Amino acid sequence: MIAVTTFKDKQVALFGLGGSGLATARALVAGGAKVTAWDDNPDSVAKATAEGIATADLRTIDWQAQAAFVLSPGVPLTHPKPHWSVDLARAAGVEIIGDVELFVRERRAHAPDCPFIAITGTNGKSTTTALIAHILKSSGRDTQLGGNIGTAILTLDPPKAERYFVVECSSYQIDLAPTLNPTAGILLNLTPDHLDRHGTMQHYADVKERLVAGAETAVIGVDDTFCTLIADRVERAGVNVQRISKRSVVENGLYAEGSKIIEAHAGASSLLLDLDGIQTLKGSHNAQNAAAAIAACLAVGVSKDEIREGLKSFPGLKHRMQPVGKRNQVVFVNDSKATNADAAAPALSSYDRIYWIAGGLPKEGGIASLAPLFPRIVKAYLIGEAAPAFAATLGEAVPYEISGTLERAVEHAAADAAADTTASAVMLSPACASFDQFKNFEVRGDAFVGHVAALAGVTMLI
Ligand code: ADP
Repeated sequence: MIAVTTFKDKQVALFGLGGSGLATARALVAGGAKVTAWDDNPDSVAKATAEGIATADLRTIDWQAQAAFVLSPGVPLTHPKPHWSVDLARAAGVEIIGDVELFVRERRAHAPDCPFIAITGTNGKSTTTALIAHILKSSGRDTQLGGNIGTAILTLDPPKAERYFVVECSSYQIDLAPTLNPTAGILLNLTPDHLDRHGTMQHYADVKERLVAGAETAVIGVDDTFCTLIADRVERAGVNVQRISKRSVVENGLYAEGSKIIEAHAGASSLLLDLDGIQTLKGSHNAQNAAAAIAACLAVGVSKDEIREGLKSFPGLKHRMQPVGKRNQVVFVNDSKATNADAAAPALSSYDRIYWIAGGLPKEGGIASLAPLFPRIVKAYLIGEAAPAFAATLGEAVPYEISGTLERAVEHAAADAAADTTASAVMLSPACASFDQFKNFEVRGDAFVGHVAALAGVTMLI
């Protein structure tokens, strides 16, 4: 745990006692802060009280006496409207921060040179974060991995020289980290998402920009207009900018030509490495993730050979285009995290001749947007509530069956793929939520893996 010493003996109000909120309260208390915590959920308050954290309704405290207000990233700061506790803090002029800011201040106070890589973007955050941590770990470095990816940042080991921090940041966490200053900051891409919590695309982009604006080296994917403008602006402000592109040449940074990653310095370019053959990094979206990860690793002093070695053994993330088994040339791919059509597109773009398992609880828009990828699908196996609607969209374009259950879909898809010497993948990329048949996408993905493992002659890859 990182004991937060920067608020020692000071009063701090805290709202939000979910997983990371509780961890933050503990870290503040461990560092000597006088915390008063609260949550709208009485069970969460009771849990915190039971472990000795002081709790009180924040409507009743002396706000003028608070040195800071620490908010959980899950609680609205701005949109759709500020939470009542935010209004109270603002009225009293108390600064509002989150757990990432507490980490940043702790690092600044005790180990300002400790390498810190922060990652954000609309898509690919977790993959890139996990990949960087994997490269660092495989090179033998002391590596801490956390933030939005799942491990609350203040539960990591404390900052010290030669300890590398790799931290995934959501926009909400950036919004609550006014002095965020990573050694390398990555902004992968920006497309509309979570606008209910950010109001406008411009506000969403402005928040994300802060992660790279405060970085020593800014690694920015320049394949969309928002990020291109941000890269130019941040560079003009004096930050070292490394541009990343999955489709066009850049002057300074890294770009992809197919699976090749090319390094560019002042317009001169050379081949850095080839991702071909790395199953867990297939597809142009992963070329973007890998190039960004490589640029960040170079920025913190990892050698090219160490990077090449690390990439080769990247196990991938569960449920995200994860190769889980193989039979002859057919790969079984678990992409259960793809809960809408947009998220399923990268997986469908990454293989030819796919036996595609899709369906579940349908989302608005269905799969019509995937039509350009239909030629890659040999046959679709439809499950769950979405099956009739998906069948209607596939129509004459793609052969399909209504399999009903995931188990039957795996069985039938595997049998059909076995009879096709040119088949490349049996893939669960459902383009749907899971809740009609499973507790969540993780349980759905695990069920897929179980059914694959039960097939005769399959070599499991996990
Ligand atoms: P995040 O943490 O930002 O949600 P993940 O790394 O968990 O992203 O990837 C989730 C899904 O998003 C993947 O299964 C893939 O379909 C898609 N994806 C991953 N990387 C990218 C990228 N760079 N650009 C677009 N889509 C991506």
